[in-house]
Amino acid sequence: MSNLEDLYREVILDHYRSPRNKGELPPPATCTEGANPLCGDEIKIFLDVADGTVRDVRFSGHGCSISQASASMMTAIVKGKPLADVRAVAKRFKQLMTIEEDDGNTPTDIRLGDIEALQGVVKYPVRIKCAVLGWNTLLEGLNSTSS
Ligand code: ZN
Repeated sequence: MSNLEDLYREVILDHYRSPRNKGELPPPATCTEGANPLCGDEIKIFLDVADGTVRDVRFSGHGCSISQASASMMTAIVKGKPLADVRAVAKRFKQLMTIEEDDGNTPTDIRLGDIEALQGVVKYPVRIKCAVLGWNTLLEGLNSTSS
């Protein structure tokens, strides 16, 4: 018997065991660090932004399966995307994690793909910080590079 929760667990474990875009990028790519001391998660996001598009993104760090899998999913979905889309996806994800309210301005056609597997995390409020760590670090990086 397989159900949705089993499927979600599989997707999360797959990203945890075989992280996408794991590694570093040399300068001029930016490096932004984030940490979730409550859990011991640490993440570094490397960003190569040009012409308003995320040309390349990598992450490194260590921590629980949720934080690492979420960062892996994040890099997979934002790579190659225009910054406006990246911000929209980040916002949509935070709404999914219930830490940002739906103000009605978020396009509803945003596809979250694998990231939807994290919605079960909402049941465990202490893990929400793990799930959004990579995203918050990414947004911080974008804010410091946006020109
Ligand atoms: Zn964690």
